[in-house]
Amino acid sequence: MVTAMIGLGSNLADPKLQIQNAREAIARLPVTEERGFSSLYASPPMGPQDQPDYVNAVMAITTELSARQLLQALQGIENQQGRLRERRWGERTLDLDILVYGDVLIDEPDLVVPHYGIADRSFVLYPLQDVVEQGFEIPGKGALTELLKDCPKNGLYELTANG
Ligand code: ATP
Ligand code: MG
Ligand code: MG
Repeated sequence: MVTAMIGLGSNLADPKLQIQNAREAIARLPVTEERGFSSLYASPPMGPQDQPDYVNAVMAITTELSARQLLQALQGIENQQGRLRERRWGERTLDLDILVYGDVLIDEPDLVVPHYGIADRSFVLYPLQDVVEQGFEIPGKGALTELLKDCPKNGLYELTANG
């Protein structure tokens, strides 16, 4: 059994609902359990600027799926929720990225774990902090608290229950 962290993002078609639906779908995956879920955050888009702001979150799970099986399952959920791939970093109903998969390092053409962008992305690091233990290390990248020191929020903010 492996503890994995999944990054969730959406900026189309009721992003908060997309995130909630994805959370439920991930929790229903075989041999997988939810272990934690961050606050919801809002963040300005990373790529093309002519798109809505994002809602982001991080979910901790334990799973007996392999990393590759997990990737496939997450892509299935993206597709179920109407994910289209048009322009790079363009708007989407749902993005599910494997941020961390235990202490495993993977560097393959279609699967890089820990996720290659993890250390530079405020919308990943701040929600990640909500779901991990003190002293958490991102394999191959370093202590989360150290990475956070070098990662300005860049417009990221936590959404309140009514906002
Ligand atoms: P970014 O990866 O920069 O966040 P993105 O999430 O918009 O961009 P996608 O279109 O969702 O990119 O995915 C492109 C490809 O990334 C996928 O087909 C998948 O094979 C590959 N990929 C590599 N590593 C990972 C990972 N750790 N989690 C999810 N997808 C990954
Ligand atoms: Mg992504
Ligand atoms: Mg993705």
